[in-house]
Amino acid sequence: MDFSLTDEERAIRDTARQFITREVMPLEQEALLRERRQEPGLERGVLRELQLKAKKFGFWGLSTPEEYGGMNLPAVLQSLIWTEVGRTFIQFRFGGEADNILYYANEEQKKEYLLPTIEGERISCFAITEPGAGSDAANIKLRARRDGDDWVLTGEKTFITNGNDADFAMVVAVTDPEKGVRGGGTTAFLVDRSMGWRSEFIQTMGEGGPAALVFDDVRVPHRNVLGEIGKGFQLGMEWIGKGRYIIPSTALGIAERALGMAVEYANTRETFGKKIGENQAIQWMLADSEVELEAARWLILKAAWTVDQGWDPRHASSMAKLYGAAMVNDVVDRVMQIHGGMGYTRELPIERWYRQVRLMRIYEGTDEMQRLIISRDLLRGYTKIGGHLA
Ligand SMILES: Cc1cc2nc3c(=O)[nH]c(=O)nc-3n(C[C@H](O)[C@H](O)[C@H](O)COP(=O)(O)OP(=O)(O)OC[C@H]3O[C@@H](n4cnc5c(N)ncnc54)[C@H](O)[C@@H]3O)c2cc1C
Repeated sequence: MDFSLTDEERAIRDTARQFITREVMPLEQEALLRERRQEPGLERGVLRELQLKAKKFGFWGLSTPEEYGGMNLPAVLQSLIWTEVGRTFIQFRFGGEADNILYYANEEQKKEYLLPTIEGERISCFAITEPGAGSDAANIKLRARRDGDDWVLTGEKTFITNGNDADFAMVVAVTDPEKGVRGGGTTAFLVDRSMGWRSEFIQTMGEGGPAALVFDDVRVPHRNVLGEIGKGFQLGMEWIGKGRYIIPSTALGIAERALGMAVEYANTRETFGKKIGENQAIQWMLADSEVELEAARWLILKAAWTVDQGWDPRHASSMAKLYGAAMVNDVVDRVMQIHGGMGYTRELPIERWYRQVRLMRIYEGTDEMQRLIISRDLLRGYTKIGGHLA
């Protein structure tokens, strides 16, 4: 069994690491300062400039098909790059990307929505969650009624990432309540903000924040149906499924960097006349973190590899998301403990990670939903114990 990277994988990973280290990390002090002054993280314009700089290094559209100017990288390589991105706490991501379900757009819609989103000229958000439907996404109620050449959307979405900045939303709505959500009763729509929806910022413990979107009889032309009528819920599930190996990939980068800081601190900080790293209590925290980090790494790469095989990645991705999210929460907690009072201050990024990584156990399927998927696959015989080697 070969666990090494190919020369190409290593070269691309190393270039991504170089970019993050040389171009993005130097902005971290500024971001920490801004946060201490209660200002939001780096401004969009600064992040945009970084993306354009990264484009010159060849990083543009990691998952975007080549015909749209992207790299269309295999999932394993994308995972490796997201781990590098995770090493900085700056909310940076490489440019040239669009949500996977936007590729269901027809030719006209591609010109109006997909291409400008890839170019960074338009900002999108994806909205399925509602005040009464999160884990139980099949319980959505936002209604779209046909009226001549239009649809009229009424209802509310909540916790929508980018909801405050987006100029259009991909919204999953109920179009035929008789059929039910799983039976073809939902449809996805491309809805410009200018068509009349409002957003309300939601304060969270993390940087930035999602938004609630309010639809008060918003008129949407029929040509703005995304994909097929009746397939909205499936698109929603496809959107959610996409991120499941990416979220833990970034978790890995955070954990690697945080653990590196803890090792360094354990080797320098002295109490009772010796380095704190000479105490078994500290050594065990380092050891447990390293073991969990390594276990998460292989679950994540296995999930990405499953995508590259063209196999159904859901089971592997759920395991990677569940374990990766738990791992990074545990590692960051120990790293804070090892740093003592310094870990709790805003001089260092640890308290920031502590707040940021908590989300990983909640969004795009909570821990409990991942466990539900994994156990259901076993109970119904969809997967064998031992996976593809069984
Ligand atoms: C910062 C942030 C960004 C987000 N971005 C988006 C976005 O861009 N687009 C979007 O559509 N949504 C988004 N979400 C919504 C997110 O996906 C939901 O919050 C998540 O799916 C959980 O739903 P909920 O909050 O309604 O919790 P609930 O579903 O109400 O669950 C509450 C608790 O009960 C548990 N639970 C529920 N059912 C069961 C069960 N059957 N068995 C055991 N335990 C159960 C859950 O695991 C959880 O612990 C975002 C959320 C946050 C916080």
